[in-house]
Amino acid sequence: MRACVLAVCLLSACAPALPVQRLSANIDRAQQSGILMGSSWEGTQPSFAWAFPRLVAFAELHHYTVEVVNIRQYGFAGMNYFAPIRLIQIDDSMSVNHQVSTLVHELAHIFQPQELPKGFPREVFAEAVAMYACEGFGLNTRRETYSYLAGVPMPMREAVLNKYAVLIQKVSTEIAVYVKPQE
Ligand SMILES: [Zn+2]
Repeated sequence: MRACVLAVCLLSACAPALPVQRLSANIDRAQQSGILMGSSWEGTQPSFAWAFPRLVAFAELHHYTVEVVNIRQYGFAGMNYFAPIRLIQIDDSMSVNHQVSTLVHELAHIFQPQELPKGFPREVFAEAVAMYACEGFGLNTRRETYSYLAGVPMPMREAVLNKYAVLIQKVSTEIAVYVKPQE
């Protein structure tokens, strides 16, 4: 009996953490080392304009409409996600890579567990999905994601990432593969 308990402990201690479960610690380290300055969707990365229509098609598959409009005139920031009327609005003044990563984030909200409280917990879920999905089709948004999630209280961020690691991985893979089917 004692041997069994020991074996179980050893097994769980040796089980490698999923990448999502290491994300929170990586964010803390990045923040401490001060490398979260600047933007990772501009500059050296190519344009991911080709991904936008794929994401719009993915939204339509889930019965959402995407509009690229001037939403600043209504006093909103870069995006809107109106779940009841299934409408996602992306601001037309953002750069194309910023629009792509923002749209992925908004699409991720479609899959958020309903038991997740509004606000920070839902943002952690959506932003983690967005980062891994973008990475899956080639767009690196790590700096923006880390900066955004560094603003969430650490225990809350860690709890969401740990609890929903498998779902985050599943949804991000689903979006990435839809945008860029693997050979
Ligand atoms: Zn959000």
